[in-house]
Amino acid sequence: MSKLKIDTIAAVSTPAGRSAISLIRVSGPDTFKILKKMFITGGKKTFPLPYSVYFGSVIEPETGLVADKCLVTTFPAPRSYTGEDLAEVSTHGNPLVVSRVMQLLLKHGARAAEAGEFTRRAFLNGKMDLLEVEAVSQLLSANTSSQARLALNQLDGLPSQFVARIRDRIMHHLVQLEASLNFPEDAIEAIDEHLLAREIKKILAELEIFARNARSGALVADGLKIALLGRPNSGKSSLMNYMLGRDRAIVTEIAGTTRDTLEETLMVGEYPVKIIDTAGMRQPGDRIEAIGIERTSKAADEAFALIGVFDGSQPVKAEDEIVLDRLRQSGKPVIAVLNKSDLPQQINPEIFAGLRQLSVSALKGQGLPELQKAISQIIAESGLSGYEEMILLGAQQSVALDKALAALERADRGIGNIYQDMLAIDLEEAVRELGRVNGETVDVNTLDLIFERFCIGK
Ligand code: GDP
Repeated sequence: MSKLKIDTIAAVSTPAGRSAISLIRVSGPDTFKILKKMFITGGKKTFPLPYSVYFGSVIEPETGLVADKCLVTTFPAPRSYTGEDLAEVSTHGNPLVVSRVMQLLLKHGARAAEAGEFTRRAFLNGKMDLLEVEAVSQLLSANTSSQARLALNQLDGLPSQFVARIRDRIMHHLVQLEASLNFPEDAIEAIDEHLLAREIKKILAELEIFARNARSGALVADGLKIALLGRPNSGKSSLMNYMLGRDRAIVTEIAGTTRDTLEETLMVGEYPVKIIDTAGMRQPGDRIEAIGIERTSKAADEAFALIGVFDGSQPVKAEDEIVLDRLRQSGKPVIAVLNKSDLPQQINPEIFAGLRQLSVSALKGQGLPELQKAISQIIAESGLSGYEEMILLGAQQSVALDKALAALERADRGIGNIYQDMLAIDLEEAVRELGRVNGETVDVNTLDLIFERFCIGK
């Protein structure tokens, strides 16, 4: 890793505003030198002993004025978050005090940290790999406890160990292949292609499971999207409000009032589900409605599952048939909801033959438990991996994983049919791309992209 210009950085790690305490982090080779200039400990304990907490005063050295009375915790390298000398200064949570302490740190030699710079240093110092970095990022941005749990699992390092191991195994075969290609006359054993083919198949199978777990992880991290489809006035907006337990979508008896898609997240069991209310499906009355209907199609395409909403109090209309066709042709998990069960039912239930169907009254609040159960069932049947197995990847990591898989598939198909040097190229690509998944071969530009998503102070 590059040892270029390692300076000492400082940042406020807690949110802006007033609070009981704020935390300022300082990391880098001059951490304790800088603190010694401006922090006077209250007790007799020498500063800084490793992993100790000190109560004392931050002072302005020129005037002797006290900027704050605070706690300083010491984490000498390498056993710190960043792997460098690190200190955490817990100040009183007043923005004036915090900014004064920050100013003093900067004046005495620290530099204001950039977004994600502490975690970037942790990565560069080998404290965590890119999968763990991604887990930290997702943990900070998680909106539900299940998303947080998923991120915390990954911080345990098992996915990291898996990728490192798989990469080592491919590397091992690549080295042998290269050796036999480059030094054919030396006493190096010729490659047993049968054995290699078996090994590649095994590796590919394991990596495919990993990729499937990453797809599940992405679905859960983003929230499983479920689109509500139905003709205008079937009660989609009412159903959305009923599911959310509050008014989010506008409900009117005027057809075509939902002209755009609305998204809201709710929990079904342990899964975050994003319900998408769409514009009603029918021949558009005007240009704006036409755009709304286009968006409906897009939302339906992107959704994990569809809920068709039908007005049970009326006979089937041509517009309902459009919705039904859409449901049947989607190839996705589907639930047909017959709404308005509080009114006399006129719809012919036979048209839903073969579909999972249930009745609700969004207006009177009846049928939600059954609907939640049906959603839980389609999630359970969808082949999502269990929580403990799911993997979280960033965008660049997903692309790299796909490339690694594609390269291994080429190697798998080609072995026995292509020259060994072509095979070596495929294995080399798989090694390189897997290195991008866990960060062993990542380049500086990609790192910039990854860490700019972090907040300052992390
Ligand atoms: P959307 O166009 O599909 O979003 O339908 P809305 O949710 O705006 O509802 C259309 C009309 O049907 C409104 O007047 C609602 O009050 C009414 N409505 C919705 N759900 C029910 C229900 O379960 N029972 C009854 N009786 N009316 C409902």
